[in-house]
Amino acid sequence: MIKAPRGTRDILPPEQEWWQYVRNTATEVSSLYAYAPIDTPLIEEARLFQRSVGEGTDVVEKEMYTFTDRGGNELTLKPEGTAPVCRAYLEHGLRELPQPVRLYYFTPAYRYERPQSGRQREHHQFGCEAIGEADYTLDAEVISLACTFFDRLGISRVDLVINSIGCPECRPGYTSALKEYYEPHRKSLCPDCKRRLERNPLRLLDCKNSACQGFAANAPRSLDYLCAQCRTHFNGLTDILTATDTDFVIDHRLVRGLDYYTRTVFEVHPEGSTNALGGGGRYDNLIQSLGGPPTPGVGFACGIERTIEVLQTRGIRVPALPAPRVFLAYVDRSVEKMATRLAQTLRQEGIGVIFSTSRRSLKSQLRQANARNASYCLILGEEEIERGVVVMRDLISSRQQEIALEGLLEELKRRVA
Ligand code: AMP
Repeated sequence: MIKAPRGTRDILPPEQEWWQYVRNTATEVSSLYAYAPIDTPLIEEARLFQRSVGEGTDVVEKEMYTFTDRGGNELTLKPEGTAPVCRAYLEHGLRELPQPVRLYYFTPAYRYERPQSGRQREHHQFGCEAIGEADYTLDAEVISLACTFFDRLGISRVDLVINSIGCPECRPGYTSALKEYYEPHRKSLCPDCKRRLERNPLRLLDCKNSACQGFAANAPRSLDYLCAQCRTHFNGLTDILTATDTDFVIDHRLVRGLDYYTRTVFEVHPEGSTNALGGGGRYDNLIQSLGGPPTPGVGFACGIERTIEVLQTRGIRVPALPAPRVFLAYVDRSVEKMATRLAQTLRQEGIGVIFSTSRRSLKSQLRQANARNASYCLILGEEEIERGVVVMRDLISSRQQEIALEGLLEELKRRVA
């Protein structure tokens, strides 16, 4: 039997109400913050991610789904949403608009990782980006949007972790301090960290290996190496968070997995958990690395599957998807055209109808109507049509009455619309 590829999953109808709830909430919150929707293609040129996410990162080094198409182009299924949005910003001259340009998106993302709880090869993200302004108030805005999103979902107990990883001015000083600190421990590091020590020292800090974590705890802190501008930026941000009663903790080990970050980085975790619901930060050099003019930006992305998992484990109830409450039953083939027409008319008027396709007994159709959670069953027969009526059965009280066909629409609108 052919199954969904490892690390991917189908989202069947019963689960869709969670997805709808999360998407609706994300859309509402984005519009409260004046972020406009954007969609970018599922495939991008591989070099978009190589240049922005970074050659030395896990995502680019080990996790991308890259292939050559029939025209010889090297394409990648997008592993994240920020670089494509920045590409679109550049490609469509969005810098001509009033800045910052505020955008949000939903996207699937593809990473060839080992599937496990909270980690799939296809997952989905809700993300937002504010591009074209370097002010720290925008970092605060994006963090506030993220926190409001979780709060509105009903996920109130979250930990906000922040850090600053500096800029190209001050980061080299910090990475050499890190290397100097780690060098004597080289032999005890995991194989990945041995490589990170050469290629991407910042990532030494967020290794999940317990021995490596011991070293990270006492490693030099990026905040101690910030240049004056980065320090002012970070202080400005933390002052705003404090003034707006936003609880946060500073963790010097928070560096994030993608190379494009500068200055602020942050993550939101369910209280007490290390598995991030979402994260983001500032990426002031990303657009330049794609060949554009210097253009700062800041953004956030969260995993929708992980968010839904938290909603479910916390027992948070979500609204049911709208479903028709009217079931249309008929027994005689001779009335099928009339029944079909009636169903069409009702739908055109905005009344959802579940159409019975079974020509079995009325009893069995009523059972079906109940199984579909309908509230009313309309029963159409030859004799009723001749008299210009339809039988309406209230499935909750089991009472039924005849209603003139011409008054049916009004009656249903009164009851179910
Ligand atoms: P990142 O782009 O790595 O910061 O990811 C943003 C968010 O997407 C994370 O905080 C997770 O919630 C989610 N996420 C990232 N990778 C995966 C994955 N492989 N499976 C499920 N969710 C993921």
